[in-house]
Amino acid sequence: MLTSVPFGLRKIEDYSQVVGEQLISELKKKAETLKGLKVLNISSTAFGGGVAELLYTTAPLMVNLGLDVKWQVINGYEDFFTITKNIHNGLQGMDFVLTEQMIKMYEERNKSFAENLEDEADIIIVHDPQPMAMSSFIIPKKRKKAKWIWRAHVDLSSPQQEVVDYVSKFIPYYDAVIVTLPKYSEPFKNINKPYFIAPTIDPLSIKNKDLSKSATEEIIDRLEIDKNRPIMCQVSRFDPWKDPFGVIDTYRLVKKEIKDLQLLMVASMAVDDPEGWHYFEKTARYAGVDPSINFFSNVTGVGNVEVNAIQRASDVVIQKSKREGFGLVVSEAMWKFKPVVGTKVGGITLQIKDSENGFLIETTEEAAKKVKFLIENKEKAKEMGKKAHIYVKDNFLTPRLLNDWLDIFTELSEVTG
Ligand code: UDP
Repeated sequence: MLTSVPFGLRKIEDYSQVVGEQLISELKKKAETLKGLKVLNISSTAFGGGVAELLYTTAPLMVNLGLDVKWQVINGYEDFFTITKNIHNGLQGMDFVLTEQMIKMYEERNKSFAENLEDEADIIIVHDPQPMAMSSFIIPKKRKKAKWIWRAHVDLSSPQQEVVDYVSKFIPYYDAVIVTLPKYSEPFKNINKPYFIAPTIDPLSIKNKDLSKSATEEIIDRLEIDKNRPIMCQVSRFDPWKDPFGVIDTYRLVKKEIKDLQLLMVASMAVDDPEGWHYFEKTARYAGVDPSINFFSNVTGVGNVEVNAIQRASDVVIQKSKREGFGLVVSEAMWKFKPVVGTKVGGITLQIKDSENGFLIETTEEAAKKVKFLIENKEKAKEMGKKAHIYVKDNFLTPRLLNDWLDIFTELSEVTG
């Protein structure tokens, strides 16, 4: 019912070249009192989406800092993930009725995750709503030993209250709750002391590390993308929240004036996301036969290094999400000196400072105007791109997140009982 995820090795020292020696020695110092602390992460998938992306970096770095970190994923099966996707959608504000039957299956599966939890841990971090209920099924003796943290990555700015009320019943089984923005905790009436922590990107991962111009071009050529024509791209799962139709509409408006524009839509398919394939098909149909719209995915060999090259080769990166918990892709593109045109929602507003390091937009027409502006004003785009890079460097790189985690672990370890 729970499967361990291997996550390789990372060295914290390597990060001093990016964030400086001081932060790294502070991290090492903080970690000293936490040596051997057993931390277990539980999430729903080891592949696709922001949570997996975060854990592949933070877990090995915490191990390198001396903590005993594990990561397990739940095996929920498709019918379960369909329900949890609905819960996720309800939390992001979509209309949906949670039936008694759905609740029964959700809780039964969570009960068996709890029964199959073998590891003795000091801290258990449960990511997102899928495994959230399991903590309520842990026998009290086991509960006493571990501190439970619920880390919600979703955009909770305007949820369906009934779904919030339902998941709220599991909050008392957690010692701490972490959300990305202060307003995300407001719909919950029973979170005593929420933590507000923004995710970060790994500057040294294959997806984000420096890539030379020639290496970028070699990949772009291999993918048969025309590097001599303007490129706009969105890298996101196929999901209504990421508004792929809106991306195509934006492209079509710009294309009226910039005739040689190409649109690249890159999406990885996650196993806890049965809607993904269905939505891909719908999007492809919406795109029609336009040869300047190209789809790429992990299934056709577009992995991390290709995403890296595509983001770097793009003239404009767009993120047209309707809701966004944080949106790692925004920081990923900004780190690569790209000003992003992003909707004024959720975590995107934390990253883009409008008209400084990118553009915050509300409508498709506005998005098209800004995309066109950036393609036609290369110098301005370059200047904004530099600011974007610096903003991410100062706020959204992995060592900052590790620092936040170590603080929380220290605080929870000091609380007894
Ligand atoms: N991603 C990827 N390939 C794709 C689509 C997405 O590697 O084809 C990655 C993306 O680079 C980012 C993560 O998946 O690291 C998505 O995280 P984000 O927070 O943007 O959105 P989520 O999918 O968690 O809603």
